[in-house]
Amino acid sequence: MTRANRQAIGLSNDMDLLRARAVLKTYHTLAENYFGREFELPIINFKQKGRAAGTAHLSKNEIRLNYFMFQQNPDAFLEEVVPHELAHLIAFTLYGPRIRPHGIEWKLVMIRALSRIPSRTHNFATPKPDQLFDYRCACQEHQLTIRRHNKILKGTVYLCKKCREPLKNIEYH
Ligand SMILES: [Zn+2]
Ligand SMILES: [Zn+2]
Repeated sequence: MTRANRQAIGLSNDMDLLRARAVLKTYHTLAENYFGREFELPIINFKQKGRAAGTAHLSKNEIRLNYFMFQQNPDAFLEEVVPHELAHLIAFTLYGPRIRPHGIEWKLVMIRALSRIPSRTHNFATPKPDQLFDYRCACQEHQLTIRRHNKILKGTVYLCKKCREPLKNIEYH
């Protein structure tokens, strides 16, 4: 196997997390300035899987981002998804857990405090579940697109960024 067709993919790295945190802090500061009070800075990570771009976890004050979608267009993803999820946490902090998730309170936080257009849907590609292929390295599972799966069948080796082991196809179960 030549060096040229070994590529590292799959896991978010520290740089990605720093970018996400920087965007989060920018919007968090906007919210604090607008409302004239402090909000606890949420935890942010790339633990979101599946078809959701991100989720807001109120009890943990946590924002989970979808790394599969982040990779398609990192800047656009962060500018869209981070304020959307942060606005959920702020709206629930200000108005309590009984408000509708995308109701008027959330919309006002988006428009007035964060200067974002409130949209409840995203435009990032969400591969159909049957178009993802399950792979494994030494440390975790990876989901690959059919494009990468086909390249592996033709001889490309993908390495996990974390453990540097090649990804191997695993059966569905
Ligand atoms: Zn939402
Ligand atoms: Zn690994």
